[in-house]
Amino acid sequence: MAKRGVIIVAGGSGRRMQSSLPKQFMILGGEPVVARTINTFSEALPGADIVVVLPEEHIALWKNLAARFDVAAHRVVAGGKERYDSVKAGIEALPAEVEYIAVHDGVRALVSKRLILRAILEVEKHDAVIPVVDVVDSIRRIVGDASVIVPRSELRAVQTPQVFRAEVLRHAYTLPYDAGFTDDASVVEAAGGSITLIEGERQNIKLTTPEDMAWAENLLQ
Ligand code: C5P
Repeated sequence: MAKRGVIIVAGGSGRRMQSSLPKQFMILGGEPVVARTINTFSEALPGADIVVVLPEEHIALWKNLAARFDVAAHRVVAGGKERYDSVKAGIEALPAEVEYIAVHDGVRALVSKRLILRAILEVEKHDAVIPVVDVVDSIRRIVGDASVIVPRSELRAVQTPQVFRAEVLRHAYTLPYDAGFTDDASVVEAAGGSITLIEGERQNIKLTTPEDMAWAENLLQ
C-alpha cells in the first residue's frame, strides 16, 4: 500500500478565541482539540506518518498535555511565521518515501474518517484534491464606498484535508512565499498543478470562537 503522510498544522496563535490556552489545546468531548484531530487521522489511515506543527513556544505544553491523554503516535515540529512556513516545516519532517500527503488544519477537529478516506482515494487519480462546501450566506464585494452582490452559486468555501501527490506538494513548496497563499491548493496551483474539488462536510469547521467550541461540544453529546 502507498505510504501516506499527514501534516496537521496548529501553528497559529489563535487570538480570536479570547483565551490564554490556544484553541488547539482546549478540551472538546473530553480530549484536547488537536488530540481528537490526530486520532481521527490515525484511525482513518492506519500506518500513516503523522506530523503535528505547533508554535515553538507551545511544544512543551503540548507534550505535557499529550502524556495525559490517549493520543496516537505522531511527531511534533515547530511552525513558522505564516501557515506556509508551518506546512513547509511539516513537509520537511516527513520521510522521503511518503507518496501522498494530507494537510489538515488542527482546529478542524470535527473532520470525519469518511471525508479523509474519500479524499485519499480520489487523489490516486489526481494531483490535488480539496473538499469544498456551498456558500449559504449572500456575499457582497466592497467596492470603494459601495458594495456589489457576488453570485453565490459561483462560490465554494474551501476546507481541509487537502490531499496531494507528495512530489506535487514538495515541488510547490519550493516557490517563494506569496501573500495569496491562504491554503495549500493555492500554492500547488501557482506551481502549475491542477486542483480537483470534492464535496466537503458542513460540520468540518475551523473551531475559531468560544461559540464554535460550545456548538461542537453540543454536537458531540
Ligand atoms: O490562520 P488560519 O485560520 O488560516 O489558520 C489555519 C491553520 O493554519 C490553523 O490550524 C493554524 O493553527 C495554522 N497555522 C500555522 N502556522 C501559522 C499560521 C496558521 O500552522 N503561522
